[in-house]
Amino acid sequence: MEVKEIKRSLLFSLELANRGKKKFLDELWEEYKKALQYFIDRGFAEEKLPTYEEVKNYPYQTWLSKRYLGATLVQAVEILKSVFQKKKRGKEVSKPEVKKVNLKLDKRFYRFEKGNNSFDFWFRLRDPEGQRWVSFPVKNYDYAKRYFDGWEMALDIELLMKRNGKWFLKLTFKKRVELKEKQPRGIDIGYRKLLALSDGQVFGREVKEIIEKRILPKKQGSKRFKKALHFLKTEINRILKQAIDGTFSPVLENLKNLKRGKRRKWSRLVNRRFNYWTYSYVLKRIKELCEVAGVQWRIVPAFNTSRSCPQCGYVDSANRDREWFHCIRCGYENDADVVGAVNILQRFGREPIVPYPAKPPFMENKCL
Ligand SMILES: [Zn+2]
Repeated sequence: MEVKEIKRSLLFSLELANRGKKKFLDELWEEYKKALQYFIDRGFAEEKLPTYEEVKNYPYQTWLSKRYLGATLVQAVEILKSVFQKKKRGKEVSKPEVKKVNLKLDKRFYRFEKGNNSFDFWFRLRDPEGQRWVSFPVKNYDYAKRYFDGWEMALDIELLMKRNGKWFLKLTFKKRVELKEKQPRGIDIGYRKLLALSDGQVFGREVKEIIEKRILPKKQGSKRFKKALHFLKTEINRILKQAIDGTFSPVLENLKNLKRGKRRKWSRLVNRRFNYWTYSYVLKRIKELCEVAGVQWRIVPAFNTSRSCPQCGYVDSANRDREWFHCIRCGYENDADVVGAVNILQRFGREPIVPYPAKPPFMENKCL
C-alpha cells in the first residue's frame, strides 16, 4: 500500500470586491509584471539565475516592497530555469516575454479567514504601500465545499486574471491518501472506444463522434469550440466515473511516442494533436479518480500492444484488421482494443492471465 499526497487547485472569484480593490489588483499586477520581466531580462542577458542582489538593486521606482520583489524574483528564477534547461539540451531559446502572469504568493502576503454572514471568507492581501490589508470577500461554492473539510490548504496561493479581465484566487488543497492494490485490470485508451478493459468491458463509443462532429469542425479557440470542448470533458468524466469504480487497479500504458504519431491506431486519425490532448486528459482523470477511490494504478511501457496475440504471443500487424483482432497463427480473435487491454495487463505480469473467450459477446464491429 502506498501513501500519496494528492493536490487539487480551485478558483475563487474576487469579483465581489468593489472597484477600488480590483484596481489595486490591476496596479499590483502591472508592477509585478514589470519587475518579473526585469529579472528575466537580467538573468537571460547574464545567462545565470538572478539572486536577491537584484532585488536590492532594483533600478525602477516602485511601490512594491522588497518582499513582493522577492516573490517576483522567485518566479523569474522558475521561468529561467526551464529556459536554461532547454538550452542545455541544445534547443533554441528566445527571451521569455511576460504577457499574462499568475502572481505566486506565499503566506506572508495574505490572510484567509472565515467570513461573517454575508460572505463565506475574507481574503486579505498585503498592500505594500500603506502597510495595510486589502480585504476581498469570497463566496464558497458547492464543488469547493468538500475541500474545506478533510483537506489541508496549501500555504502558497496564486492570483490570476482571466482573459476577460476578471480576477481569481487560486487555492491548492492537499490530502494524504492510501492507495490500495486491488485486482489489476488492463485499460486501453482509444479513440473509437474511449476505454477497453481487459475483462472485455468497453466504454465511450460515443466520444469519437463528439470529437468529429462537434469539435473538429469548429475554429480552435472560438467560443463554440470551447463550449464543445467543455461538453466533451463532461462526457469523458461521466464515462470514466462509470468505468473507474475503485474495485480494481487500472494498468495503463505509457504512450510517450503518441505525440510523434508512432502508434498506428492513433497516428492515422484526423487530428493528431487533438488526439494527444484527449489521451493525456483521460490518463490524468483516471489517475485522479483512482486517488479519490484510494486504489493504486500502474503504468507499463508501450510495446506491440495492438499487434500481439494474447493467446500464443505471435506479433504481427496482420493480426489486426481495424477494430477486430484475429491471430493468423492460432486463430484467437476478439475486439482489437480489448486485446490491447489484455496485452497491457499481461505486461504488468502479476499473474498468468487466462485468455479471454475466443467468441466475445460483442461482435457488431467485426465488419466495419
Ligand atoms: Zn495467436
